[in-house]
Amino acid sequence: MLILYLNNVSIMDPEGIVIRIKTPAGDMDSSVDSPSLLNFNDLLVAIRDVMPEATVTAFEYEDEVGDRITVRSDEELKAMLSYYFNTMNEQRMNGLMPDPLQIFPRAGKTPGIRNIHGLKVNTRPNPANDCTHAVQDTMASNSLKKSSAELKRILTNGQINAQDIHYQEQLGHGNGGTVYKAYHIIGKRVLAVKVIPLDITVELQKQIMSELEILYKCDSPYIITFFSAFFVENRISICTEFMDGGSLDVYKRIPEHVLGRIAVAVVNGLTYLWSLKILHRDVKPSNMLVNTRGQVKLCDFGVSTQLVNSIAKTYVGTNAYMAPERISGEQYGIHADVWSVGISFMELALGMFPYPQPLQLLQCIVDEDPPVLPVSQFSEKFVHFITQCMRRQPKERPAPNNLMTCAKITDVTSSLNFPVSTSACKCFHISPLGLY
Ligand code: ATP
Ligand code: MG
Repeated sequence: MLILYLNNVSIMDPEGIVIRIKTPAGDMDSSVDSPSLLNFNDLLVAIRDVMPEATVTAFEYEDEVGDRITVRSDEELKAMLSYYFNTMNEQRMNGLMPDPLQIFPRAGKTPGIRNIHGLKVNTRPNPANDCTHAVQDTMASNSLKKSSAELKRILTNGQINAQDIHYQEQLGHGNGGTVYKAYHIIGKRVLAVKVIPLDITVELQKQIMSELEILYKCDSPYIITFFSAFFVENRISICTEFMDGGSLDVYKRIPEHVLGRIAVAVVNGLTYLWSLKILHRDVKPSNMLVNTRGQVKLCDFGVSTQLVNSIAKTYVGTNAYMAPERISGEQYGIHADVWSVGISFMELALGMFPYPQPLQLLQCIVDEDPPVLPVSQFSEKFVHFITQCMRRQPKERPAPNNLMTCAKITDVTSSLNFPVSTSACKCFHISPLGLY
């Protein structure tokens, strides 16, 4: 199955092009990452995939005066691409987004009409036919299949199928599921795949898939990139960007000036999610990921209510990072995420969870005064940031518009902008043993 999109490819890499196949049923856009690898047969197979009813043998494109030029061979394809690249460069030089390359499939006559001389010639392979033709047809079909696979590799852009994933090591295991490092053979990319067993109906599966769609639109350097999700039997696999530094829960006590930089990234990530009307709902160190490029990104935010609910049904244990109002079952909003930021950063700063674990933990969070960082060990600004985030009363916590001001703990922090080349990783050598 080729990966084709309906009019939704708007961004392409500088080397890539978008080919718009004009069909009677509408326009079909295909993103081609490496046009130099494209050959005539590849494109023909792609066209046949979107127009299975027609016998397409060639296609046309329009030159600058609108004349149609037919393409029937690799040579003619090259000429078309070179004409298109020139047009594309001109458009770019004029500050315009290049138009897609429009092609008009030319449907030949149907096999029935073509067979006017009564010859036993089929345009489509059929093993029931005479041996010679069957063998030839099968060979032709195999060669098409091969180029179809090649085109699939060229055209794949974000779509991931279960069979194309090679699982490597297990990265961790949470309450909901297990996360694996994996390799996407077609996209040639390392992924983190979270596999969550869910015994739910197909209807619910569909609902989850549609709720997850917003993830395709998330585009922030502070949010983990989402590639794809799919159900196989009763398991959902969620494929995201792999972060080679892992999550912050595996690091020892993190110095305050590093935490300052991380806080800015986390607040940026949350502000972005809130701007999309998404509450994170699960802010905690294990959902803050880092990489050796010095980036800090949030993952595992509750974008799908159905997914959250379905996991909750099998969830055992407590979420110690929840705000008191959530534990008490009251209504909650952005302020609950802010509490979780406070308690997470307190843990990262102390190198230990600030409440006694696990006895009556939730009761403590609801009933007792929130813990405060020792002022002797941390700067006034940092202590203030945590104390403000962990106010018992949600409304007393910093609102989104002044959370960033609070999060800018040091002057160094305020001048930093993640991701930057002077990365936290470079300064503090991210290793599983500690971030120093
Ligand atoms: P919970 O299930 O309660 O949210 P958790 O966050 O620890 O707990 P998972 O989300 O299943 O559990 O993640 C397990 C571990 O996998 C994480 O702690 C992290 O170390 C690792 N991990 C998750 N996502 C990625 C990723 N994109 N890149 C690298 N490591 C990851
Ligand atoms: Mg997680």
